[in-house]
Amino acid sequence: MLTMDKLVALCRNRGIIFAGSELYGGLANTWDYGPVGVELKNNVKRLWWNRFVQSQPLVVGLDSSILLNPQVWEASGHVGGFSDPLIDCRQCKNRFRADNLIEDYCAEKGISRDVAGLSNEGLRELIDKENIPCPSCGGHNFTSIRKFNLMFQTHQGVTDENTTPIYLRPETAQGIFLNFRTISRSARVSPPFGVGQIGKSFRNEITPGNFIFRTREFEQMELEFFTPPAEANTWYQYWCEECMSFLLDLGVKKDNLRMRAHTPEELSHYSVATSDIEYLFPFGWGEIWGIANRTDYDLKAHMEYSGKDLFAADPVTNEKYIPYVVEPSVGVERLLLMFLADAYDEEELEDGSTRVLLRLHPLLAPVKIGILPLSKKLTSQAEEIRRRLAPLYNVELDDRGSIGKRYRRFDEIGTPYCLTVDFQTEEDGCVTIRDRDTMEQIRLPLDELESYFAEKFRI
Ligand code: ATP
Repeated sequence: MLTMDKLVALCRNRGIIFAGSELYGGLANTWDYGPVGVELKNNVKRLWWNRFVQSQPLVVGLDSSILLNPQVWEASGHVGGFSDPLIDCRQCKNRFRADNLIEDYCAEKGISRDVAGLSNEGLRELIDKENIPCPSCGGHNFTSIRKFNLMFQTHQGVTDENTTPIYLRPETAQGIFLNFRTISRSARVSPPFGVGQIGKSFRNEITPGNFIFRTREFEQMELEFFTPPAEANTWYQYWCEECMSFLLDLGVKKDNLRMRAHTPEELSHYSVATSDIEYLFPFGWGEIWGIANRTDYDLKAHMEYSGKDLFAADPVTNEKYIPYVVEPSVGVERLLLMFLADAYDEEELEDGSTRVLLRLHPLLAPVKIGILPLSKKLTSQAEEIRRRLAPLYNVELDDRGSIGKRYRRFDEIGTPYCLTVDFQTEEDGCVTIRDRDTMEQIRLPLDELESYFAEKFRI
């Protein structure tokens, strides 16, 4: 059975994900993606872009900056409202998010308490009423709850006296709203149309954790879909379905996924409908993807604060209106964690040993083809094949150690095909292809390699 410890160990041993700044004792919950991990991450981003931008007739792309005019965050409500309820344990000095503290306790005890929409005072009362203990020391001696703004603040400018406070963006969406007018004009599009973006976001989370599930630095893949208000609900349904099919098409197990609509109390003040796609991680259900009908809140706010016209015009009546926005927003790392957890498998072999493998979809697999010469004498022949396939796929030649160990390593990083060059290859011009999932082997003529793999890795 999969545990988070097993997954973290596998990621570390196989060059997928390492703890950040390890040489200096680390920096809490920062992670680096190793040679294998970066390929996986790039594949996740490429597949999202392909599905949500490139293949969509009504969507264009954008890459906006991380640093934005500080007024943006006032208009968006992040300066005043983007905060979490922070509570400290007076006894052990540990710090928690009050809502999570209650939710975790209630989940453990099997009791149901709705914390959505509760004020800080309401949360504090509930902690006392249920006599919820500190998860670290077991005591019950908490401070009152304070608002903790999640935005990272820094300064722009060269001299100390002259600096302007500035924020690292906590979401990529605002960069899209700011460019609504310029994109609409330059790309000659009017609603319904969408803008997709992939980029880093930063949140000073109180309790980062669960490996890469919640971190302070992460990447988001966001689509802001501008629509006439009357069509917003239809597009909301469309994007909910599209996000779910994206996951199912990439082989994620249906039973591990659910679509959860927010209750009215849970909805953000700007949203009339929000659904989260959740995944059943080893630590429980967790949000992967949030799809929200954000109404005209964002463009309206930027119109008010900037004084600029962000209206769209109805093509038939020419009437002006402020578009609604439907936003599917997902984190790259959370998605990646889900793909890893879902693909992890342990299989008992006939000889009694256990094979660990990642049954990743071939399009997600970081290394597509492992090339293995049976003996070092065959390395130059294998190298020739590597040179042929490397411009097409991320392939890796491994000629060190026993063939069994090499297969094991490729299984553990989810390589769907291993290609073995043996002593017969020179005579019959064929190589052996081994399938990761079934371990079946076939002989394939060398001149059919490109067409064989083109079929296997077709999007
Ligand atoms: P949560 O309730 O887990 O804090 P959220 O509802 O604040 O998430 P959104 O603001 O809707 O999240 O962000 C959209 C997506 O961005 C999330 O569904 C998630 O995939 C990702 N995301 C948000 N915060 C983080 C984080 N701290 N670390 C990694 N991914 C994140």
